[in-house]
Amino acid sequence: MRDTITILGVPIDRVTRNDAGKITEDLIQVSNKSCKMIFAPNVEFIMMAQKDEEFFNILKESSLSTPDSIGVIIGAKLQGKFFPERIPGQSYFRKIIELSNEKGYSIYLLGGKPGIPEKVRQNLKKEFPNVNIVGVHHGYFGENEEKAVIQEINSLKPNVLFVALGAPKQEKWIKQHQKELQVDVATGQGGTYDYEAGRIKRAPEWIQKIGMEWFWRLLREPKRIKRQLVLPVYLIKVLFAKDKTKGKFDYK
Ligand code: UDP
Repeated sequence: MRDTITILGVPIDRVTRNDAGKITEDLIQVSNKSCKMIFAPNVEFIMMAQKDEEFFNILKESSLSTPDSIGVIIGAKLQGKFFPERIPGQSYFRKIIELSNEKGYSIYLLGGKPGIPEKVRQNLKKEFPNVNIVGVHHGYFGENEEKAVIQEINSLKPNVLFVALGAPKQEKWIKQHQKELQVDVATGQGGTYDYEAGRIKRAPEWIQKIGMEWFWRLLREPKRIKRQLVLPVYLIKVLFAKDKTKGKFDYK
């Protein structure tokens, strides 16, 4: 049975970065190309899910959901529960890259602006010479190109498919194609490639440590204010939620 904390109905696993890596490896072993879904919910996800039933149901179908943001950690605390640590999306991504470098797991990078996933592969190759990135494709393909993208992924049958199309598009895309995709694990990765490609700089480590990265991002991308305005509403909703502990989730 999974050890999850449910925030406004969305299950999130009580795992460390190392646990998340280990569980991903276990899922790769048992998946047999059945496209198990791994998500990284943050406050925006949880709030979107309250209004978007399709997204809500997809998040409940994950095989693993990692605690991505400080808002998720605080949401748990308000319920008297504790995550062992926060796992920013990029940190989980890097864990899987490290495992690929050590053990050869094959990886496909889908999403980001044209040229970005190529740049990510190039940068990672310098740092992790044995990383096994078998294919990349940008995330701005039309419906008529989608079939070819899926065919290419399926011809490579990667262990892990990273999808960065922004939320909830990436999670919906994975769910929509789950039955066709011949990958062991597929995971939504939001803006991770933009950091890895050096297009956007992450906050200095001390700002990350004190949980203020959201503020740093806000200063650099003021249009994010609209997204972050959901935070106070979220906190109030969590405080008054009646379904605090509802839902038991098992590994799928
Ligand atoms: N993206 C994409 N295709 C799309 C929309 C977005 O490949 O149709 C990429 C975008 O280039 C970016 C990533 O998805 O690299 C995440 O987008 P965003 O910053 O909106 O999402 P967040 O990081 O907030 O989840």
